[in-house]
Amino acid sequence: MADNSYNIAVLSGDGIGPEVIDSALKVLGAASEKHGINLLYQHYEAGAEYYEKNGESISMHTMESIGKAHAVLLGAMGLPHIRKSDGTEIAPQIDIREHYGLFASLRPVKLFEGVGAPLNSGKANMLVIRETTEGLFAGRHDKQEPSDETVSDRLTITRATSEKLFTLAFAQARARKKGGSEGRVTLFDKANVLRSNAFLRKIFYEVAEKNSDIEADHLYIDAAAMMMVQDPSRFDVIVTENVFGDIVSELGAGLVGGLGVAPSGDVSEEHGVFQPSHGTAPDIEGKNIANPVATVLSAAMMLDWLEMRNDDQKCKAAADEIRAVTEKLLAKGVKTADIGGNASSTDITQAYIQEIQSN
Ligand code: ATP
Repeated sequence: MADNSYNIAVLSGDGIGPEVIDSALKVLGAASEKHGINLLYQHYEAGAEYYEKNGESISMHTMESIGKAHAVLLGAMGLPHIRKSDGTEIAPQIDIREHYGLFASLRPVKLFEGVGAPLNSGKANMLVIRETTEGLFAGRHDKQEPSDETVSDRLTITRATSEKLFTLAFAQARARKKGGSEGRVTLFDKANVLRSNAFLRKIFYEVAEKNSDIEADHLYIDAAAMMMVQDPSRFDVIVTENVFGDIVSELGAGLVGGLGVAPSGDVSEEHGVFQPSHGTAPDIEGKNIANPVATVLSAAMMLDWLEMRNDDQKCKAAADEIRAVTEKLLAKGVKTADIGGNASSTDITQAYIQEIQSN
């Protein structure tokens, strides 16, 4: 946008969602002011508490409205004690994903100094991209076979989605390369056993040919899992199908200190929804101890997204600053209890604002 103004739809949600969103908006406020970006927020209600009051987890008006924004920032949704009559959880974030065809989930995995990790995660700094609309989840609405002996699930890979997924993966690798990363996309698959995965790999290399400035390679998912633990610094961008990606994303979060510092984005070619990887954490709601870093880093991803779509370097500068301040604060030990510190959520927010304003 010419005047660097962006409409952001904000869904705070349930549990600690409003607390971590409050922190992220304050950090975004400081960063956008400093870098000359104008973020205009529209707040919408959705989630489990909304469901309890209104009998639906997200209104059609909200669903339609958020699609008109330049990006969506989401806290967390769903509470264990509020469920639909069929017993399923309230998860409008999944409805949003389906409504807008958000086919890729982006999960950066970066080890920050000062965050304890269970393994020697080296200089882990990678981006896991998980396809989220097909693969083994494509058949989840299929009717179960009328048998008590055998049940199967369908694994579907389509050329159309795979081409979009890989094109996105190479674009992300290119953007990361500008920031000093290696510029490589690695496909995780099981092409030696599954025909669908052999097809996936074939399409991967077709797309790779059109993106020859970026290296491309592949690993079998089993070998890849071992390598992620033994030498995570080997990876730059990882791309994989739905179920493998589900597992690998959490493995990545575990490698670098857990959910409190794990951001994410669900994107299509047109839409982007950014949210922390964690849930609503009702056990710590209202105690001022929720770690806001995952949401703050998700907000930085949102700025990256705005930069990629609008070629707006001010967004990139603001995102880079938020990440640099995160690195600095964690290294200084300014952190919440979940990652071994004793700062409150509001302490962390204040520290971000001070750092951004004084840099
Ligand atoms: P969901 O199914 O929605 O992912 P969950 O209950 O499996 O939810 P979370 O809500 O993410 O998972 O919580 C898992 C654990 O991690 C809880 O003990 C919670 O307190 C902790 N946790 C999650 N997010 C944070 C955070 N931002 N700061 C501190 N602790 C957190």
